[in-house]
Order: sequence, then C-alpha cells, then structure tokens
Amino acid sequence: MRKKYVAGNWKMNLNLAEAKALVEGIKKGLPAGANIDVAVCPPFYMLVPLAEILSGSPIALGAQNCYFEPKGAFTGEVSAPMLKDAGCRTVIIGHSERRQYFGEAGDLLKKKVMAALANGLEVIYCIGETLEEREAGKTESVISRHLREVCGPDVSLDKVTIAYEPVWAIGTGKTATPAQAQEVHAYCRAEIAKLYNPTVAANVRIQYGGSVKPDNAKELMSQPDVDGALVGGASLKAADFLGIIQGALAAQA
Ligand code: PEP
Repeated sequence: MRKKYVAGNWKMNLNLAEAKALVEGIKKGLPAGANIDVAVCPPFYMLVPLAEILSGSPIALGAQNCYFEPKGAFTGEVSAPMLKDAGCRTVIIGHSERRQYFGEAGDLLKKKVMAALANGLEVIYCIGETLEEREAGKTESVISRHLREVCGPDVSLDKVTIAYEPVWAIGTGKTATPAQAQEVHAYCRAEIAKLYNPTVAANVRIQYGGSVKPDNAKELMSQPDVDGALVGGASLKAADFLGIIQGALAAQA
C-alpha cells in the first residue's frame, strides 16, 4: 500500500515571518502519528530558518528547484549539495512554471534529477499537458515524453515521486475531475511499468496537482492511482493545507 504524500509548493510567496507562522501552524495541526508523508517547499532563502523550526518534526523540507552542478561559477543557482546542507529532504524538478518561463526540458531536467538523487535528496518530478495539448488529444504523448525525459535504467525511482499536474488546472481553480486524474495516473503507471517493471510501477507514488483544495482532496486522493497531492495556492494557509492532509488521511482510511 502506497502511503499518501502531500507536498506544498509555496512558489514565490510569503515573507519569512509569514512562512514561520505557516510552518508552526502546520506543525501544530498535523495529527500526531498520522500515517502520511508531508513536505513544504518554500523559496530558497527561507530553507535554513525553516529547517530549524521543522527539526524533529515529521514534516519534510523541500526546495522548488536546483542546479545540476555541485558548485562553481553559476550565478544565481543553488546546487543539490547546498539544498542538502540547508536541511532539505526533497526537491521539486520540472514544475510547469520552470518549463514555461525558464525553458527547462529534457536533458537539463534529467541532469537535475540525477544530481539531486546523487546527493541524497528525494525528488518530486512534475509532468503534465497544457490545455492546448489536451484539446489536441496529446495528453498521453506529452506524459510519455515527460516521463522519458528523466526515467530510464540510469535513474532509480526509489526516491522519486511523480507529480501529474495538468497545466490547465494549476492556479486556475479548474481541477481535473477525479476520473480525469485517475485516467492519466493509470496511464503514467503503465508507462513506468514499460520503462522499468511492474514492481517499480506498483511502488512509485504519483501525486496529483492542480487546484487541489480541502473540498476536493479526499475525492481526488480516493482514486486508486492518486497517491497524494502537490499543492500550490492552498498550501499557503495552514487551515487549507491541513484540510487537504485530512482529505488524504480520509482517502487512505
Ligand atoms: C502547483 O503549482 O504545483 C499547483 C498545483 O498549484 P495550485 O494548487 O495553486 O493549482
């Protein structure tokens, strides 16, 4: 049985005081001993102070991106060893906003995933189609391409979570229906079985992302292949994020 995994992607939001209050709120509201994985992914400069607050708590700290080189003349970048040093357990790679605004794709994403894993980080690898691609009937080919960018015999998925995030559902309030999410998640798992084997496919966790809220979380995560959520907007308020965690726990019960 795959344990549900709820991660918050804060993007470029909040200031440090707000961020500290948010993690304190999540820490306080997280049911003791809850059988669930939870992570928060704040902007880079908040990682070290938040790592201190989260020390000893079951909430993992994650970053939203990293560069693949370990160090050197790469102005503005942050490496995987630096994230590890800051106290991160995981890192989001390939978010659609990185793909869309920063031109990230293919080989670069694979190098980032490999650098993160080689430095002991877990990875949340994001994939998903745009509205145009969905309407053109290209959802499966995009999912397949995004998976093949990173997956293969040289990349173990033991420490990788896939996040299926239809771009048309991110920050738009338009959630995929549970049936739409399930269909793509099942396709994704079948593709992973082809790229690896049925055991890897059965074990890999696939989060759904795209306007997940407390009121749709349980239904989405009750789908057999939906193993959690990557949450943007609703991860910025403790009550909403905790509501989504409650939804995940209810879906798992
Ligand atoms: C995201 O950006 O990963 C995301 C899912 O955002 P939102 O929940 O705001 O749609």
